Amino acid sequence: MNKYQLVVLRSLKGFGQFVTESRDETNMYEFGDGDERPIIFGEKLKAVERRTIMRKVREVLGVRCWLTTAKKGGDSGISGLCLSCPACVLFGGTYAPKKGGGVGQKNAIEMRRAFYTGAFPFPFAGGGIRDVTFNAVDERTGQTGQALGTNQIIEPRDFIDVVTVEANDERWVRLLIWGIERSDRYGANTRIYGEIHNSIVGVVEDTRLRTTAIDLARLGSMQKVQEHFFKQNDLTLAGIPLTCGDAEVDRLIRELARSTEVEDLAGRRNRVDLSVADYFKQIAERWHKELLTKELAIKDATGKVKKVKWDKWDLATRHAQICEALEASEALKTASREHLTALRGPGVSEPSDDDVASFVKGQYGLARLIEATLGEEAEDEEAVA
Ligand SMILES: [Zn+2]
Repeated sequence: MNKYQLVVLRSLKGFGQFVTESRDETNMYEFGDGDERPIIFGEKLKAVERRTIMRKVREVLGVRCWLTTAKKGGDSGISGLCLSCPACVLFGGTYAPKKGGGVGQKNAIEMRRAFYTGAFPFPFAGGGIRDVTFNAVDERTGQTGQALGTNQIIEPRDFIDVVTVEANDERWVRLLIWGIERSDRYGANTRIYGEIHNSIVGVVEDTRLRTTAIDLARLGSMQKVQEHFFKQNDLTLAGIPLTCGDAEVDRLIRELARSTEVEDLAGRRNRVDLSVADYFKQIAERWHKELLTKELAIKDATGKVKKVKWDKWDLATRHAQICEALEASEALKTASREHLTALRGPGVSEPSDDDVASFVKGQYGLARLIEATLGEEAEDEEAVA
């Protein structure tokens, strides 16, 4: 597995507020005696860049993949992920069905491929931190109250950061480059603070980690960082473009949705859903009541269900049954066709019946149909704000 280390220049263009939750103090790191500098934790950067990429993936593929974080934070507090799209492969996560009772695995877990540590600034005369006082505003009336609060904020300055992608395919790196370039609001209180412009300075490629943000920040300036990369001949710079355009990213997301990584992840997610008896029943009833549900149950003379046949079916049989239902279900065909058209992108001819039939045989296609049956539109944090 290759490690691609993206060296990112993050220029804070206004004031920034980077504090730990529940504490209003700026996160600091002591580089040396009397050399304390503000830092930005990697998780804060990752959350923003993940959202940027997820928004694009939803737009291009029509997947229902949302990042809903519980107040406690951390990966364990995240729900709403589809775990069957390129963004989920890149950033990882967990998927657990809301209902239990299945015989199979209870959840699917994907390890992340993108690793963030934190952004460290170059030295800055005068410390670069100030306190600003603000009036408390009554949220109900909008009236300015008398109580004053204080925000500790960072003045405009440059941070250097190294983000690592572990992959054997440069396309994952390109997707993250696009996401980093298109993200620009970070930290607390992003309506007022935290405008950052990102640019990728270089990508180091190796089978082991070769550079860190903290060491680069110690070099003292962006110019020194650039000299370091050109002087140090044993560092291999990846020969990939350091910028990724909007036209390219649409194509990239469609290609990655068909990658073995996404197919494998979608397969693990589908096995979790299909093992839940109640979910399989919902899928069957939604897509082909007449055919599939008739096959699913043995009824007595009065028409009452005596027992269900599918209870004993293994996951492969359940998947095969859904594929069979597709041949007779116009609703299922239409839904499959829509997702397949999104996956193929503009300028490609209409998918044939054969294309549609084989789409659901694949794990990505199956995930989309299960999602369309069970998924409710989750609310993103941003949508609530
Ligand atoms: Zn996803």
